[in-house]
Amino acid sequence: MESFVYTSLPSRVVFGAGTIDKVADEILRLNCQRALVLSTPQQAAQADSLAARLGSLSAGTFAQAAMHTPVAITEQAVAVARERQADCTVALGGGSTTGLGKAIALRTDLPQIVIPTTYAGSEATPILGETESGQKTTQRSVKVLPEVIIYDVDLTLTLPAPQSITSGLNAIAHAVEALYSPEANPIISLLALEGIAALARALPVIVDRPRDREARSDALHGAWACGVCLGSVGMALHHKLCHVLGGTFDLPHAEAHSVILPHAVGFNETAAAGPMRKVADILGSASAAEGLFDLAQRLNAPVCLKEIGMPIDGLDRAADLAVALPYPNPRPIARDGIRTLLDDAFHGRRPRPTKNRSLTSADA
Ligand code: NAD
Repeated sequence: MESFVYTSLPSRVVFGAGTIDKVADEILRLNCQRALVLSTPQQAAQADSLAARLGSLSAGTFAQAAMHTPVAITEQAVAVARERQADCTVALGGGSTTGLGKAIALRTDLPQIVIPTTYAGSEATPILGETESGQKTTQRSVKVLPEVIIYDVDLTLTLPAPQSITSGLNAIAHAVEALYSPEANPIISLLALEGIAALARALPVIVDRPRDREARSDALHGAWACGVCLGSVGMALHHKLCHVLGGTFDLPHAEAHSVILPHAVGFNETAAAGPMRKVADILGSASAAEGLFDLAQRLNAPVCLKEIGMPIDGLDRAADLAVALPYPNPRPIARDGIRTLLDDAFHGRRPRPTKNRSLTSADA
């Protein structure tokens, strides 16, 4: 018997093509009348066009969203929202714009409608990361969970293929680690497998045909499933390593995910044999680790840490940091094993299929 605890997160999802037309209805459904439309500077024209379509339901736009949710920008946005008497926000864009909507909600309780245009998945999580004076802090609160998500496949057709790939692999990482989380449960595991399958099917098509609407629909649907996984259960070794590599060595976040995932999964594959077998089957591979490595290669995503800016003399420090504080992981974390994993990832070696490898005393 497998015992589990499952807590569902409240959220309304509207999925389809052309669903941007439903924003006005959703604003009214929330009993709101003045929506502040948020975007990055790069998507300002889209935000302006949405605000114009909303007419009297719009409180104008704030198009200064930036990566890692800087607190100074949030404070400007809160001031604008108060000045214009906004009673809700509509975040149109990727994780950066969603983050701004969440940060405003944390401070004002304004309800949020999010229209995601990448596969980051932040719209489905109660997690907010913010930066102030170069320090990043992350918190989890239902206060920041968006009330409504409107997925419009048409808005994702312009997401460049390389960004689609790294964002999609990042989403797969959330789902893979959800499968062996201590909080794993049958509902989230179903969503995780669904998300991995949808993205693994869609991403190779998107590389060849970025405007393929069926593939874009699959990928967006998969990104939602993977986002729910991230928002619902705790993550493990893979996310810890990416956090260390991004935070200490300033490696690009999404690229670090695509390099590390096959190796983190290789490390855990024996200890999480049941769920990883299912991932291997989805990927049509002998092991989950090899399947994920082959997928990244097929997508031309980075597979070597050395190619994305990792200094070779940083590997020891990264291993030290990764084992410094304990965290749940299916296989016990020991420094030797992590150092070997990092070395393999640095050189882009094919991950070792741990199904045939027994744990050594150095691993425990
Ligand atoms: P992003 O939001 O920073 O977008 C990158 C660039 O792509 C921006 O200029 C954006 O305007 C543009 N863009 C977005 N969609 C586009 C489209 N369809 N067509 C053309 N251009 C488009 O990137 P992201 O990867 O979505 O988000 C990254 C951020 O999200 C990070 O800060 C990360 O920490 C955060 N995040 C948070 C969570 C969470 O649960 N809190 C989860 C995942 C990611």
